Amino acid sequence: MGKNLYITTAIPYVNAKPHIGNALDYLIADIWSRYQKQNGHQVRFQVGTDEHGNKIAAKAAEQGLDPKSYTDQTHIAFKDLMTKVGAEYTDFVRTTDDHHVAAVQWIWQKLQPYIYKGTYEGWYCIGHEAFFTDKEVDATGGICPDHQKPYEHVSEENYYLKASAFTDKVREAIEHNRMQIVPEFRKKEFLELIKDGIRDVSISRPRKNLSWGIPVPNDPDQVMYVWLDALANYITVLGYPDNEQWRDYWPAEVQVVGKDILRFHAGIWPPMLLALDVPLPKKLLVHGFVNVQGAKMSKSVGNVVDPNEIIDQYGLDAFRYFFSRHIPTLDDGDFTWEKFENAYNNELGNDLGNLVQRVSSMVTRYQSGVIGDAPQSEHDMKPYRDAMTSLNFNEAIDEVWVTIRSLNQYLESVKPWEIAKKRDSDPEAEAHLSEVLAQAVGSLLQIGDLLVPFMPNAAKRIQTMFETGVIRDDGGMLFPKVYIHTPDPRANHTPREK
Ligand SMILES: [Zn+2]
Repeated sequence: MGKNLYITTAIPYVNAKPHIGNALDYLIADIWSRYQKQNGHQVRFQVGTDEHGNKIAAKAAEQGLDPKSYTDQTHIAFKDLMTKVGAEYTDFVRTTDDHHVAAVQWIWQKLQPYIYKGTYEGWYCIGHEAFFTDKEVDATGGICPDHQKPYEHVSEENYYLKASAFTDKVREAIEHNRMQIVPEFRKKEFLELIKDGIRDVSISRPRKNLSWGIPVPNDPDQVMYVWLDALANYITVLGYPDNEQWRDYWPAEVQVVGKDILRFHAGIWPPMLLALDVPLPKKLLVHGFVNVQGAKMSKSVGNVVDPNEIIDQYGLDAFRYFFSRHIPTLDDGDFTWEKFENAYNNELGNDLGNLVQRVSSMVTRYQSGVIGDAPQSEHDMKPYRDAMTSLNFNEAIDEVWVTIRSLNQYLESVKPWEIAKKRDSDPEAEAHLSEVLAQAVGSLLQIGDLLVPFMPNAAKRIQTMFETGVIRDDGGMLFPKVYIHTPDPRANHTPREK
């Protein structure tokens, strides 16, 4: 009997096109989810969109739409991207959903003992939809480094959540890994950030400053701050509070967040949960940013890479391969088209594609496609399993490539094509050849298995091809060469002088 497991992803604002960062969230959660399902567990996998706030209202107004009609249109691009990266999510939440809105208003009432009214005087970044301290503003020269916009000075009456009351509990949960922040250096960073305590947090704004959001119950002049609304999605989507089945999947096993929003997920969300008397999530997986040629991706620099373009040109598995292996799961990574295409042609095309092709054609040619009994591979998979458990997915897929390379080396050293030539003169050659090929197929089946969480299509191809004992080939090379961003060596026929 498997366990019930729950994984969540951050819900993006729908005022811009989805980007690589969103795709990375869905990919990381999907790899984990497929791995758990492969191991017999039941997984709920949440995704969604954050549809309130000034940024949304402003964009809608620019287009002459009311905010809801605007988000009805724009959330689709996110849904499409999730499908496109192969995310097998089970639950999609929009923060404009009726159930979510009602649940958040219920949450507000339940938080009453920890809510008070106060005057906020300080700094706000509309890009973050968040407040910042003098210290943070000074440290960045008054300009938000993530949004390249000056902080606005605001003075307004807001409701506050007494998050400070939970400092000790949150700190203890993090220190003792009851709510584990992965990787360790992010945990240290966050503990450093709250060394003087968690600050109370503004959870509403005056309606005149925030027009588009969930109304505060019993106070028509106030609208809920988007973060309170957004963070609640992780439990409302499970049916909290009215559908008791939310308890079957909460606490979440893993919550996937980008490094820029860790402070909300470790500093606001846990106090909210504690105030609601709801258990804390078990792990926060914090991933980094994807840079392009060492520079931050930005519209103004013009180096934005569209995940859709990659998938259209190279396929789903190639996208998933690069972003799970060459972008570290738990740190920043770097993308260039050259790097991507080289990885595609060399690692996917040569290492894996040729290997599969080679083994299947030898079995077809020498044994009329009959594999015989493929032995279980004896390759030690503990490093792979350990890496999956510690959420270092890039290390796990590295391990798959260790297996792939060692199978390539094995074939190079035993040379089955040489053994095949000896069959007429050497009576033992036939048996030796079939043993070697069965061995190779056994390893490929294991490779197929290990690739299930990462490259679902290639994994399926390999399994279908080899698992029945007779080669079933639906034809076509896995990962045929593509040369869009790097020179095609095949076209490189320099004319020779005669
Ligand atoms: Zn900002």
